[in-house]
Amino acid sequence: MPKLNENYLNLKESYLFAEIAHRVNDYAKANPDKKIIRLGIGDVTRPIGSEMISALHEGVDAMASSETFKGYGPEQGYDFLRDAVVSYYKENGVSINADEVFVSDGAKSDTGNITDLFDKDNVILIPDPVYPVYVDTNIMNGRNITYIDANAENNFLPMPDKNVHADIIYICSPNNPTGAAYNHEQLKEWVDYALANDAIILYDSAYECFITDETLPRSIFAIEGAKKCAIEFCSLSKTAGFTGTRCGYTIVPKDLKFTVSTGEEMSLNAMWNRRQTTKFNGVSYIVQKGAAAVFSKEGMAQCKENIAYYQENAKIIADCLGKKGIRYFGGVNSPYIWFECPNGMESWDFFDYLLKNAQVVGTPGAGFGNNGKNFFRLTAFGNRENTMEAMERINKLF
Ligand SMILES: *Cc1c(COP(=O)(O)O)cnc(C)c1O
Repeated sequence: MPKLNENYLNLKESYLFAEIAHRVNDYAKANPDKKIIRLGIGDVTRPIGSEMISALHEGVDAMASSETFKGYGPEQGYDFLRDAVVSYYKENGVSINADEVFVSDGAKSDTGNITDLFDKDNVILIPDPVYPVYVDTNIMNGRNITYIDANAENNFLPMPDKNVHADIIYICSPNNPTGAAYNHEQLKEWVDYALANDAIILYDSAYECFITDETLPRSIFAIEGAKKCAIEFCSLSKTAGFTGTRCGYTIVPKDLKFTVSTGEEMSLNAMWNRRQTTKFNGVSYIVQKGAAAVFSKEGMAQCKENIAYYQENAKIIADCLGKKGIRYFGGVNSPYIWFECPNGMESWDFFDYLLKNAQVVGTPGAGFGNNGKNFFRLTAFGNRENTMEAMERINKLF
């Protein structure tokens, strides 16, 4: 009999979205005449821009003739895409090298797979509430997690505690689910803390494209010293509507080196390269063609149009809550609006209340961690009409 990875027994059942679907279905069945508006989804809805679509078609056509056919590509991604990512960073004032860019099928896989590089024995800091992938992938590997509280008192932006040592720190900014985004000084504190502790920051910047405040950093590498202590995960899922097309990229700086128990120095860049070339055969050429178009002038302009559409939705939601005097976070620099449930309600009770009285579906904060217990997430990824109607209903409700 195989000995199974019993760490899986320690995973909490991921019932959040299943439970939401279940409650919504029950309500819909009992109230077939009611129009339900879903503002709970964390998935984009706008179609991909024509520049990217043309490039995807070109990629398909290349497969049809022997002159242009592509078989296995480089595991790390084609140079044309790695170079495009380097240029994109440069436009944002950050200098990285192409051999520090690893193209992948998305940030979820990379944030999960990165755990391959670390021993079981580490002090791991993860904020609560959080994107569940960081927690579950560490539990699968049998690691203990130290949670750091993100709450209204710290504006959902927890800061390092200099009296507590950590080895690995997860940061997602702008944050899912809270919408909160760190500024330069705050991130600098984290970088300084990581350097002082010889720790590494695993930085998820999947929502950097939603940053409108130009003073906010869009990459951890905008912070001095970060190349010695951080890996950055990014994705075209939210930037370009690639949630179904699948493409992301991870930056592993060559400066990221640690002396290990043998006295040797190990490079995280070399390790990740070894890991990827061993376990991953690259993203399809077709998708990489589409991805490269995101970084063209026209392509980026089209992506920004979609992002602006979602940002306007976010503003509509935030304005409505603001007028009602409801305390919210996010809504700017983020497609997420995270607010305190009115009258001290708990998030699942508020979910039911909102469904029954306004037929609006959101996501209970409890699903992202203990500190989300009295909070609720709405997303800007719906269409304009529905977003406006949902806010009119909420406006009448309180
Ligand atoms: C959506 C999202 C991602 C993107 O994941 P992909 O696998 O690239 O689609 C990464 N991190 C967070 C926090 C997200 O919400």
